[in-house]
Amino acid sequence: MLLGNLREEVLAANLELVRQGVVVSTFGNVSGISRRDGLVAIKPSGVPYEKMTPVQIVVTDLAGKVVGGDLRPSSDLPTHLELYRNFPNIGGVAHTHSEYATAWAQAKLPIPCLGTTHADYFHGPVPVSVELSADEIAGDYERATGKAIALTFAALDPDTIPAVLVAGHAPFAWGKDPATAVHHSVMLEYVARMAAHTLALNPDAQPLSRALHDRHFFRKHGATAYYGQKARD
Ligand SMILES: [Zn+2]
Repeated sequence: MLLGNLREEVLAANLELVRQGVVVSTFGNVSGISRRDGLVAIKPSGVPYEKMTPVQIVVTDLAGKVVGGDLRPSSDLPTHLELYRNFPNIGGVAHTHSEYATAWAQAKLPIPCLGTTHADYFHGPVPVSVELSADEIAGDYERATGKAIALTFAALDPDTIPAVLVAGHAPFAWGKDPATAVHHSVMLEYVARMAAHTLALNPDAQPLSRALHDRHFFRKHGATAYYGQKARD
């Protein structure tokens, strides 16, 4: 089976997305990329999660041409492909319609960093994507969605803010591999819920100070990270 390991990883990540409760109905999909092969593995369209097998995970090239599997890929494939093209360090992408993150996307409001949970994962507010024109919506819609996300990150770093709220739609998250993309989707939903509760309790709640935000982000990420155990080789 072509890219058997990656397909198994992508299947496991899709099932984990469901297990974590961030998938409503079939609104969810995860993909992974082999940068060496220039190939992407993604959930097939419209197959029930409980029946999915690795061989049903669809493999495509970066132009979206199917090179492995008999099923059609998730209809969101072109969005995933744009993210892989524009964000060279990512290895996995996850899309959900999880409740609170989607509420922020529908409100077209970025999620402010109100606490250290957010700061541990996202080095800044989680942004809302620029809106699509009527022509983009009528045309290659899913691809235009990916381009809009890339445009939104023109002055932002996708490696330190691994998620976006697509305006009027729902979130996309990414990471170094499919499992990390799923973890970021779950944490995004958690911080979206916490931010909504925080602002309900105190509409004047202020974002975390830059010093505290930086301290939390950089103790887990980058050259000066010290959280957790040292990696051994
Ligand atoms: Zn969607």
